Amino acid sequence: MSSERRALVTGGGRGIGRSVAATLARDGFDICIFDRTLPGDKELLVEEIESNGRECLLIAGDVCDSESVQNAIETVAGRWGGLDVLVNNAGVVRDRVCWKMSDDEWSDVLGVNLTGTFQMCRAAIPLIRQGGGGSVVNISSINGLRGKLGQVNYAASKAGVIGLTKSLAKEVAGFNITVNSVAPGYIETDILASMPEDMKKQALSETLLGRAGDVKDVAEAVAFLCSSRARFITGEVLKVDGGQYV
Ligand code: NDP
Repeated sequence: MSSERRALVTGGGRGIGRSVAATLARDGFDICIFDRTLPGDKELLVEEIESNGRECLLIAGDVCDSESVQNAIETVAGRWGGLDVLVNNAGVVRDRVCWKMSDDEWSDVLGVNLTGTFQMCRAAIPLIRQGGGGSVVNISSINGLRGKLGQVNYAASKAGVIGLTKSLAKEVAGFNITVNSVAPGYIETDILASMPEDMKKQALSETLLGRAGDVKDVAEAVAFLCSSRARFITGEVLKVDGGQYV
């Protein structure tokens, strides 16, 4: 692990990503948030990061657009001279049963969740490697492990993220870079807005701990995998789901 502490979080403007950014800042990381839309309260977000004595860099861009990704990494390299942690968190859902799913619903989800993760890794790994090592954490989902009705696109993208994580872990271990995935269960965020109430109830009833997860539950797991406490863990998928998958 590098002793420098500079992290980039995709989709860090809200939801789980925002909590990951705040938690990593608490743990002493300068933070770059790379998000499609910077949040309306971006001053508050910057203030929250900076209150930990860390720097906050906000970059608007799209993980699906390789030029935008490359520009973000170049901006980070220019500003900080390196990068130690990459958290691929940006994600979308477009749920529909397979036989009614449109081409766009399929390709949007695969594009952001899987291709976006690939493009970020491809651009960031040389910079992380240059600094002597670091960590990558890719946010997948328990539905990438078990599947879910209405989510052939989402589950395929998240299963792909898990395969990417394990393959990349093998490719970069020799450069002192760990690559892991956090697979959340049912976590209260905006992404659930389109989920029907009966499905939310079902998800809750599956959860052994009897509650939905909080964004902080996921953020703490990510922060652990980015810390030296996890230095011997790579290629792993850590479920953060209150026992929903068991
Ligand atoms: P949210 O919808 O709350 O936040 C998603 C973030 O990703 C937003 O900031 C969004 O930006 C950003 N984003 C979306 N597309 C792009 C893009 N093309 N380029 C850059 N940024 C983008 O979702 P969550 O916080 O709930 O989800 C975070 C991750 O956790 C996702 O990967 C999701 O699949 C995963 N997850 C979530 C679960 C849950 O129950 N909440 C369960 C399992 C996994 P914008 O504001 O512009 O839309």
